[in-house]
Amino acid sequence: MDYQKILEDIYKEILPFACEGAQADYIPALAQINPDQFGICLKLVSGEEYSHMQADTRFSIQSIAKVFALAMGLALKGESLWDKVGKEPSGTAFNSLVQLEFEKGKPRINAGAIVVADILLSELEDAEGEFLSFVRALSGSDDIGYNMSVALSEREKGYLNAAIGNLLKYHGTINNDIERVLMFYFKMCSVEMSCRELSLAFLAFANHRRKFDYAGISLTASQVKRINAIMQTCGFYDEAGEFAYFVGLPGKSGVGGGIVAIHPLQYV
Ligand code: GLU
Repeated sequence: MDYQKILEDIYKEILPFACEGAQADYIPALAQINPDQFGICLKLVSGEEYSHMQADTRFSIQSIAKVFALAMGLALKGESLWDKVGKEPSGTAFNSLVQLEFEKGKPRINAGAIVVADILLSELEDAEGEFLSFVRALSGSDDIGYNMSVALSEREKGYLNAAIGNLLKYHGTINNDIERVLMFYFKMCSVEMSCRELSLAFLAFANHRRKFDYAGISLTASQVKRINAIMQTCGFYDEAGEFAYFVGLPGKSGVGGGIVAIHPLQYV
């Protein structure tokens, strides 16, 4: 299979649509990002790698970080994680307050990630440091870090996530101080990675035959498959069904413009 040509053809095919869409300007720092950047990287479980354009340019991973946080939460809490976090796709906006209120504080997507942030803060002495160590170990890049100007910019305008945090606290779903939980959540989202780094990081989820043990976070093959299931059903906001219908791969996108997809045991 000529994967290199496939990647180049994909680029040509999508170029006419590049003018559609816009940066997520509700996070002011993201509104400054050049919307014409494009990179793609394909990594096979056999180790081969193909890329095109700016595969080494880092960008804000935003919600893609939720997969890493979920993996940590599942490693630390096992199945009891699901007592606090819903497995169902939201079917509505990822940051819907209505749904959270209706379900009495048991969260789905954004709210779910805020609850996972709270769990990590309760379980780990240095959750922020350990989150970075985990992402660095998965991607083999030691200089991956939080972009504080993106995190603070989101914090400044993060009224909706703050409302979610307050509603969760009201329902007793989060234990730690709301500000601390939100700041950790915004920091996770602010992590910057390139397509190449993301594809290496997600290879661990694509290749569930390989032992999953990174920076002290270990998952069984079955847990890795469960994470893929959540990506399949919840990875693409209220369009998860659409993505499953047309693409059929588990994955995760983020408002920073990144999309990751996995073909289990084949590639990412
Ligand atoms: N930090 C963003 C938010 O909470 C992430 C959204 C996303 O990428 O879906 O609004």
